[in-house]
This record gives sequence, C-alpha cells and structure tokens, in this order.
Amino acid sequence: MIVCKFGGTSVQDAEAMTRLAQIIGARRKLQPVVVASAMGKTTNQLLEVAQTASRGKRQDALDLLAKIKEKHLRESQKLGIAVTEDWVFETIQTYFKEMRDLVKGLAALGELTPRIMDAIASYGERLSTAILTQVLENNGMPAQLMDARQCVITDDNFTRAAVLFDQTDPAILEHLRPVIKAGRIPVFQGFIGATRQAITTTIGRGGSDYTAAIVGAALDVEDIQIWTDVDGIMTTDPRMVPEARRIRVISFDEASELAYFGAKVLHPATIVPAVRRKIPVHVLNSYKPDQEGTLITDEAPPCDNPVKAIAYKSGITVVNVTSTRMLMAYGFLKRIFDTFEHFKVPVDVVSTSEVSVSLTVDETSALWDIVTELKKIGEVKVEGSKSIVCCVGDNLRNIPGVPYIAFSALQDIKIQMISQGASAINITFVIDQERLPEAVRGLHDAFFKTADPLIFE
Ligand code: ASP
Ligand code: MG
Repeated sequence: MIVCKFGGTSVQDAEAMTRLAQIIGARRKLQPVVVASAMGKTTNQLLEVAQTASRGKRQDALDLLAKIKEKHLRESQKLGIAVTEDWVFETIQTYFKEMRDLVKGLAALGELTPRIMDAIASYGERLSTAILTQVLENNGMPAQLMDARQCVITDDNFTRAAVLFDQTDPAILEHLRPVIKAGRIPVFQGFIGATRQAITTTIGRGGSDYTAAIVGAALDVEDIQIWTDVDGIMTTDPRMVPEARRIRVISFDEASELAYFGAKVLHPATIVPAVRRKIPVHVLNSYKPDQEGTLITDEAPPCDNPVKAIAYKSGITVVNVTSTRMLMAYGFLKRIFDTFEHFKVPVDVVSTSEVSVSLTVDETSALWDIVTELKKIGEVKVEGSKSIVCCVGDNLRNIPGVPYIAFSALQDIKIQMISQGASAINITFVIDQERLPEAVRGLHDAFFKTADPLIFE
C-alpha cells in the first residue's frame, strides 16, 4: 500500500486531475490511497466567502460562492462529469446549497466563529475528492469516496484541531481496509476531520500533508508520496539562487528543520506520524511524474557535503531583553519564556549572554503586550525587518569547520544572532533582511562548490 497525496495545484483543474489519474493508474499495483486537497485556492476563497458574509455583505459572499461553484462545475464538465445529473452534479448542488445557507446565517449573525470557518472550509476538500473519485472511475479505476470526518478524529480546537490518534488510527483501519481489500482506490480528504461528536474540524492550513502521513502511518504503508508542483526539496530557494540543486535524499530531521523555514514543499507536522513508523516520504512533481523527486527517510545515507540545504525566513523581529539583575540570578529566562507562552507566541531562535537574551519571533500581533510585560524584567529593544538564515545538515555533527565556512561566506554581513546547539543539525544566523539575498547566495556558493552526486542532482 502507498499513500498518494495531491496538493491544491495538483488538483486545480481538469488537466491536473487528468494527470492525477495517470499517476494513480501507473501505481495501481501498489494499492494507492488518494489523499487530496481542495482545488487550487478554494480554501482561501471559501474563507473569504465566510468573512465577507459575516461582515454583512451577503450578496458579495453569495456572488463569490457562485463563482467557486461555477469553477467546480466547469472543470468537472471538461472531464465529462456533472454534465448530466449524475451523483457528482447532485453533490455539488447540495454542498453549495448548504454553503449558501451558512452564508445567509453568517450575514444575519454578523459573527464568524472558528467552528463555522471549519465547516465552510471543509467543503473544498469534500468537493475535490467527490470529483476525483469519478475521474478515477472514468479512467477505469474503481474508486471509493471516503469521509475523512469518520476517520480523522480530533479535539475541538477549531481551525487547528489536534488529532486524537488512539481513535483515529483504528477508524482509518476500519474504514479504509475493506475498500482496499475489495480492490478499490479510497479517495480521502486532506485537512479535515471531526470531533467525537461529529462536528467538522480542520487540522491547520496546509494540513493535507499531515493527513497523508496520518493515513499512511495508520495503514503502515510502504511509501507516502506527496505530489506537488515542484521538483522536490532543493538546496535552497531557486528563485534566489538559480544554481540550487535538487536534494535526492534527506533525513526526516533535516526535512523537519527545513519545513519550519517554510520550505513550502511540506507541512512540518507531516513528518511526525511518518517518522514514528519509519515510513519513507517522497516529494514528487505531478507535472513531471517520471522524475525521482526527493526521498525523505529516517536516516539519510552518508553525504560528502557538510550542509544539505540553506533555508531562510524573513519578516522576523528580534526582541532583546537586557537586565543586570540577570547576572548570577536564576528564574530570569523562565520569566521571559513564560511571557511568550502566556501570549502563545512561539520563539524561534534564542541566544543569551550573562546579562541579555535575544529572541526572534515571526508573529507580532501580541508583541506590544509582550514588550510591556518584559519591561518589568529588564530593558527591552525590538528590531524588525530581520531574516533568519539556517544551514541544515546531519553532517554538521560530524564535519568540523562548518562555522568557519559560513562565517567566511558572510564576512561582509553584520550577524545579529548565531545559534548552534550541541547536537544540532543546523547553524542559524539572524541578519538584516536587506542583506538576505547576498547571504543566501554566499552560503550556497561556499557549501555547494562541489556536490555529492549521490545526494544532489
Ligand atoms: N486546502 C487546505 C489549505 O489550503 C489544506 C491543504 O491544501 O493542505 O490549507
Ligand atoms: Mg499544501
């Protein structure tokens, strides 16, 4: 068994869905389970509908909804589906009727709750998978539309619900196994789930990768294939460094580090259920299905290069807290971190000296509340427009001299913070955002002058 997950761009229109059918057709012997996202940008659009409605703009919301419906009908009809009043046609009609009712309710109430956001967002995946099921059927593959809400059981933390694995794993086995045994291809919604009370939830934006890993782990599949619109994981952002190479094999740990940096290929949490079961994950390009992509494994093979990839994140804010009271005192760091915890703001990079602590955050909505609190502890300075640059590689543990290479590459750039943990597989720098392109290019040149052909394309 394998799981094949298709992201928004890989199901965005009739053409993409046709490619999907070919990809699945070529893998039929492997007993694929299809996990799919909503078509293209549908999730964003549905959430916009909900927001527009709750602002009282009922007609605008209904108009937008009509456009989304038209797109789903049009792309289906290009595939010969929903032309007559078949079940997909009926499903599309019913779903949009339900959504129109929701919109009217929202417009009347003028309030949008996370619970309703999830209810509306869920239609994106429910629509795409209904269409896909029929696409597979029309291509001669017996397929079965599943309802992820009967399998992915979550808590009620709407829009970011946590998966309850002890209920989810058995539910997946119970619902999917008979379908696979019967020789059918299950088509499963990414991103959505339900509480024990059967109230629809979502597991966080971009969550379809996570669904793929959850399903793959529960079924203990041989491979999880994440079909996207890129060639795989690259040594760095090719828009910034055209010489960036595709990484053939990368470890789970390395990939998780990169995922945090918004290497948009993969949702960070995807990694977790697959790691637990040591299931390999392939990132593949649905536009070039014959390319090998990137394999993410529990343990990557040895590599001659000290660094596998260079990731970055911009729009970072640095918070410096200085206090002479910190000298020889304890409890200071705890107070600082408690403050961030209280406002539920994650801290990314930390570096400390005897009298100061610098931290980075990429979310500034609660920043001024945090600063007000921190001022009770010490002097606080906030600096925006920073970037984090991170060199990732399991080999950082083994190969000495990496900081030297990195510093040489960055010699003209002011480094604001550095962090490297004892067993860490990354070395991280915080610099001014405007110097970012230069820094990334410099580091890439330095670390990939030669590239191990077994590991890099
Ligand atoms: N459709 C959802 C989103 O746009 C989930 C996903 O694409 O992974 O966030
Ligand atoms: Mg995605």
